[in-house]
Amino acid sequence: MISTRKLFDDFIRLLYPHNCAGCGSDLLETDQSICIHCYSNLPETNFAALPANPIEKMFYGRLDIEQATAGYYFSKRSVLQRLVHQLKYKGNTDVGHQLGIWLGQQLQKSNRFHSLDALVPLPLFAAKEKRRGYNQSTILCNGISEVMQLPVLTTIVTRKRYTDTQTKKGRAERIKNVDESFALAEPSIISGKHVLLVDDVITTGATMEACGLVVKQVAGLKLSIAALAFSSDD
Ligand SMILES: [Zn+2]
Repeated sequence: MISTRKLFDDFIRLLYPHNCAGCGSDLLETDQSICIHCYSNLPETNFAALPANPIEKMFYGRLDIEQATAGYYFSKRSVLQRLVHQLKYKGNTDVGHQLGIWLGQQLQKSNRFHSLDALVPLPLFAAKEKRRGYNQSTILCNGISEVMQLPVLTTIVTRKRYTDTQTKKGRAERIKNVDESFALAEPSIISGKHVLLVDDVITTGATMEACGLVVKQVAGLKLSIAALAFSSDD
C-alpha cells in the first residue's frame, strides 16, 4: 500500500527534482542527499579501527589524546570535496548530516570509541557561523549523535578573533593568534568526561591542537578527535 506521505514526496519530487550532492544524478528517495554510487566510492581510511593511525601520529608530542580518526581521504576535485563544499558553502546541511551518520557508523563499528560521553564540534568564529547560519561541525556531530546516542555540546568552547595589539606583531604571529584563540566557556559540564572533538577536514591538525589544548585544561578530561576527512595537501 502506498502511503499518503509517499505520494506527497513523489509529487514534491516531480515539482522539485532531487539530485545527488556528489554527482548530480536523480535521486529516487526524497530523504536521500547522496546516491549509492557516490557513497560506495567514498575513499574510507579505516583509521577508526586502527591504533597509531596517521591522525593519532599527527598529535604525538603535541596533544594528549585517547583516540583519533578521520573517516575519508580528502583530495581536490573529488566527490568528497564537492560534498564538503555543499556543506560549507551551499547551505546543504542534509549532506553534512548524512556524512556525520556515516562517520558515526565508522566510530561505532571500530569498538575504540565506546567510552565517549559527549561530542564537541570545533567552534567557528561567531561572525562566520552567523553568516553561514550554522557550524558545519555541529551538523556532523548531529549525524554522529544519531548513531551513537551522545549529547552534542556546542557551548563548551568558543572561538574569538583577536583584534587588539595585532599591528605590532609579525604576520606569522598574527596568523597564529587568529587560528589559536579558543576559550573555555562552560568547563564544569565536561569535567572528568571523555569528549570527542569533531571537525570537517583535518590537514596539519594545528586548529584541532589549539582547540584541544584549551579543552584539555578541564580537570580529568579525556580527549579524542574525529574529522570527517584527512587532507594531506599543502
Ligand atoms: Zn552521486
